[in-house]
Amino acid sequence: MSNNHLSFFASVERNFDKAAAHTGLPKGLLEQIKVCNAVYQMRFPVKIGNEYQVIEAYRVQHSHHRLPTKGGIRYATSVNQDEVMALAALMTYKCAIVDVPFGGAKGGVKINPRAYTPFQLEKITRRYTTELIRKNFIGPGIDVPAPDYGTGSREMAWILDTYATFKHGEIDAAGCVTGKPVQQNGIQGRTAATGRGVFYGLREVCSFKDDMKKIGLEAGMEGKTMVVQGLGNVGYHTADISIREGGVKLIGVAEYEGAIYKKDGIDLEALVKHRKETGSILDFPGAKNLKNREDALELECDILVPAALENVITKENAKRIKAKIIGEAANGPIAAEAEDTLLKKGIIIVPDMYINAGGVTVSYFEWLKNLSHMRFGRMEKRFNSNTYENLVGTVERLTGKVIGPKEKSILTKGADEIDLVNSGLEETMVEAYRQIRDVFVRSRKIEDLRTAAFVSALRKISSDYQNLGIFP
Ligand code: GLU
Repeated sequence: MSNNHLSFFASVERNFDKAAAHTGLPKGLLEQIKVCNAVYQMRFPVKIGNEYQVIEAYRVQHSHHRLPTKGGIRYATSVNQDEVMALAALMTYKCAIVDVPFGGAKGGVKINPRAYTPFQLEKITRRYTTELIRKNFIGPGIDVPAPDYGTGSREMAWILDTYATFKHGEIDAAGCVTGKPVQQNGIQGRTAATGRGVFYGLREVCSFKDDMKKIGLEAGMEGKTMVVQGLGNVGYHTADISIREGGVKLIGVAEYEGAIYKKDGIDLEALVKHRKETGSILDFPGAKNLKNREDALELECDILVPAALENVITKENAKRIKAKIIGEAANGPIAAEAEDTLLKKGIIIVPDMYINAGGVTVSYFEWLKNLSHMRFGRMEKRFNSNTYENLVGTVERLTGKVIGPKEKSILTKGADEIDLVNSGLEETMVEAYRQIRDVFVRSRKIEDLRTAAFVSALRKISSDYQNLGIFP
């Protein structure tokens, strides 16, 4: 990165400083919150074919004000210490914003996961986990990894298995990592959680009539146009749920191989099928191929969702962005230098540390499930449904009318795990946005939602430090 660009961590620090000025908190406390508490850089050898490769990897614990620390593990060639530090810091603020009682952390392994076989990836993952165990950097009460860019439930299963092998008999071992396969101590709804959270968050943002009026839009999600950059786990589920449950029209998609545009809406399932068959999103029937994949970011649309990596909206392309709302599904997609240009245009930037917090929220539910050793809904599902059946029966008796079987089954349903997870996630995203918006609306000096989100997070973290007896 050249000298005139801020590094990713420096960008986070810049945004932090901007918000810190509005808090009136003591300097020492702000400094303690801002720094990364522990940075573990490691190199380890893994035999790939006939050769040994030295793998570079990291785990950063940004803040210990609450334990365990929490955050995903990224597999990408772009991984470096600055990036992992920035992502770990964002986790601290993210957890505070959605009231998930963890400190922030992040891990990274500098590899291209597509260049390895599953067997080789398993070797790398198990070795990385072993390094974490050796340094006491993993455990249900210490530091709990999760999926991030380039990893998924498969890697989390390997992590748990390695941990449990070393920690034989540790009763809460399953809580050492989240995002595990549902059959292996995972939780329903975790895979789609970040995307579902992005949808709930955007729907809440769009529900405020006055805010929408300012950017020339009607309240509500229905009929809004959306462009998604990155069709991975987060981008795909955001688009899918926004279309199905929000009535959004997906008009543009960008991926590694290029970008497409279709004015009257892209059929997402058909696009996924097309990509599976041809290996590319390009040449999708009825859609236009864009010249460069970055062009998708500049399409005219109501909501732009960058859902891949950091720094895709830069000082250079910011002036050409035409979206009215940007939902930062990825972490750090807007370079700090680009922010002012976008804000001056009146664009509503819904910050990463709020809008993509659905993943860690459901990770928290998974961790609670692991510690309780019981699936959600087991105790109350039948009890509730019996109670509702009695109620419906009483209504029928008193009115002399019969409720049809379909309606009856809806009315008497007890909540399954997935219902509880999604409703907990919805409550979390709605409540957190209201808190951030409240900070924003009440202050005449705070100019954007990111700063408001930071202020909200800093207030909560500082009161945690005070409760610990540090910085009384
Ligand atoms: N990697 C996700 C994030 O950036 C999820 C972290 C977690 O579930 O701990 O928020």
